[in-house]
Amino acid sequence: MTYALVLNSGSSSIKFQLLDPSADANAEPLVSGLVEQIGEPVGVIAIKIRGEKVTVEEPIPNHSVGLERSFEILHEHGVGPHDVDVSAVGHRVVHGGKVFSAPEIINDQVVEMIRDIIPLAPLHNPANVDGIEVAREMLPDIPHVAVFDTGFFADMPPAAALYAINAEVALENGIRRYGFHGTSHEFVSQQVPPLLGKDPKDVHQITLHLGNGASCAAIRGGQAVDTSMGMTPLAGLVMGTRSGDIDPGIIFHLYRTAGLSIDEIDVLLNRKSGVKGLSGVNDFRALHEMIEDGDTDAWSAYNIYIHQLRRYIGSYMIVLGHVDAITFTAGVGENAKFVREDALAGLEMYGIRIDKERNALPNDGAREISTDDSKVKVFVVPTNEELAIAQKATELSK
Ligand code: ADP
Repeated sequence: MTYALVLNSGSSSIKFQLLDPSADANAEPLVSGLVEQIGEPVGVIAIKIRGEKVTVEEPIPNHSVGLERSFEILHEHGVGPHDVDVSAVGHRVVHGGKVFSAPEIINDQVVEMIRDIIPLAPLHNPANVDGIEVAREMLPDIPHVAVFDTGFFADMPPAAALYAINAEVALENGIRRYGFHGTSHEFVSQQVPPLLGKDPKDVHQITLHLGNGASCAAIRGGQAVDTSMGMTPLAGLVMGTRSGDIDPGIIFHLYRTAGLSIDEIDVLLNRKSGVKGLSGVNDFRALHEMIEDGDTDAWSAYNIYIHQLRRYIGSYMIVLGHVDAITFTAGVGENAKFVREDALAGLEMYGIRIDKERNALPNDGAREISTDDSKVKVFVVPTNEELAIAQKATELSK
């Protein structure tokens, strides 16, 4: 059996999986691990190996030590990257800028190009580069592949990708809609044509990735034609802690009149807004409980979230002209039946009918939740970004 190692490096964390790229979308990976609190006095490595959990708490000064220790632990359990056959290492890279529209085999030049994109994604790409460098050093004999979150949206029509701001300034500063969560939108949307029994090139669909971060995409014949995230992942839908779309004038107001610094506004909109900023919690399970208990802030947050989601669904129906399928995915999309029901309530006139019983079934693989007579089919399709990255990395390394 050959495996792929998938790495997702954040500023203070590394997520990894060792998995069979040909496995079923809901198969358990051989290994899944999380290194957290890198650079803090005590770090945590939590790894699940064939279902068994191993947790280690110790100082992890940097990504290099985090990965090295994780590989040691894997080796002790006979599943280190040198104990099993690893054919490729796939790296999740958040921003591919204008240059990367497809996964890329990593060499020194590619690392430099990803580094050049750092100004567009100062919070994400530096950590992605760190992870790539450390992993290449430790596993020099295995091909490394970068898979970009923006890649699926790189060829969107200019009318959707460009903002109506001064063209010269936009060009000079790389300002355009890049879109994110592309690996997930692509992975999930590819599963829809077989569910419909249609040729992928004939399918018009909307995918709703509703996790802590959230975005939606309009997809025609496998090609993304619009998406809600923008130049950064702050745009679009209301998210766990991010505001989504706001009037940009609010930023000037907060700066000039409220006296907030640019960094404070950044933190406010990225981490203290969204559902959490409105209700105090960002987990939809907690939000639901608060609503049941009569909390009016939670109810208001939920309504703002749903209203914004419906705005995007409506606009993408017009962007696409006709829609064959609407698909929910990610933590909220896969599990929160009330969100699915409210997002599509009262749209019978547009051919959308949710079957309440199907919608209430527990999350268990790809499934239809619309009625048999619904013209637009509605699905829940679990996303698996790690598997998608493993498949792309393996394919490119052949
Ligand atoms: P991320 O964007 O961090 O990858 P996920 O896609 O895993 O996040 O989604 C995490 C979110 O999914 C949680 O914050 C929570 O709001 C929601 N969620 C997870 N499980 C459930 C559940 N059983 N019911 C409702 N919401 C859930």
